[in-house]
Amino acid sequence: MSRVWNFSAGPAVLPVEVLQEAADEMLDYKGTGMSVMEMSHRSKAFETIINEAEADLRTLMNIPDNYEVLFLQGGANTQFAMIPMNFMKNRKAGYVITGQWATKAWKEAAIFGEAVELASSKDKTFSYIPDCSDLPITDDMDYVYICENNTIYGTKYKTLPNTKGKDLISDQSSCFLSEPVDVSKYGMIYAGAQKNVGPAGVVICIIRKDLISEDVLPGTPNMLRYKIHSDNGSLYNTPPAYGIYICGKVFKWLLKNGGLEAMKEKNEKKAKLFYDYLDSQDFYKGTVVKEDRSLMNIPFVIGDKELEDKFVAEAKKAGFENLKGHRTVGGMRASIYNAMPYEGVEALVEFMKKFAAENK
Ligand SMILES: *Cc1c(COP(=O)(O)O)cnc(C)c1O
Repeated sequence: MSRVWNFSAGPAVLPVEVLQEAADEMLDYKGTGMSVMEMSHRSKAFETIINEAEADLRTLMNIPDNYEVLFLQGGANTQFAMIPMNFMKNRKAGYVITGQWATKAWKEAAIFGEAVELASSKDKTFSYIPDCSDLPITDDMDYVYICENNTIYGTKYKTLPNTKGKDLISDQSSCFLSEPVDVSKYGMIYAGAQKNVGPAGVVICIIRKDLISEDVLPGTPNMLRYKIHSDNGSLYNTPPAYGIYICGKVFKWLLKNGGLEAMKEKNEKKAKLFYDYLDSQDFYKGTVVKEDRSLMNIPFVIGDKELEDKFVAEAKKAGFENLKGHRTVGGMRASIYNAMPYEGVEALVEFMKKFAAENK
């Protein structure tokens, strides 16, 4: 068997130990004689899986008791609609536009009410995080929305916006569990699992309980009401059971490896290795202002399309996969999520040095 160094932005690399465990349990999960894929979501075995997943996530993130944890379907894109449908009581909310995902969420919210652009970094291809210390937030806004780590552009908020007392809703899809966060600073955090946690199909929502109510916009379907999912412990419908099982294993892997403090340290070390190299030479260029660099997604360019294509092709031959940049940025992008070992980044930097020397 041979595994590549997988730098995909998502679905992305998972810990080998987790995949191995899942493989070992594939045909007979803990003496049940069946795979987790084959069992009822109402069974004792699955009940234990989802309850442990929630308990472990609460431990990892130190989630206060007044926050609900939900495991839902439909990915981050469904949250773009669920958030206004459930929270836009005054039909007005503020959005900070830092990339494609924030833009999509903002446009979706505009279907339901007034979605105000509070700030934007579109003028410079989203290569920075705008100053959010004094946003034009008004009293009648229901919430303030951000995308905390911009997967495509490689930026990350280093300080949260001043929301002037409004609830902050954050899309953490590509930085979820990469470092400790203070959950109490948010009204809601959500993340599609397929970036840093597990397989596609699960979206994890952490919502302050007082925000969850029956008072939603008229016409909101039951499946899109947080209250329904919360009342039913994420089992209103058949949940993405196998995905939740893998997420649960990743939570246990994180706990075993020192939790989010340790993960932050590892992620900073990996990112430093990469950025230090980027800053030490001029063949490759990072596309993001230094203060706002992401620990997870690192876009970089050579500035010559032909050489960039050659880089991606030769990297693939050398065992480095999914390094092609997003079409709106061009060049390359290395996503170095929790499950990417230091050795993977080290190997990539060595490859980059060699490629630069050969193609200068
Ligand atoms: C990938 C991504 C999304 C979209 O996720 P889907 O599961 O495809 O809906 C949204 N936000 C961020 C930050 C992402 O990285």
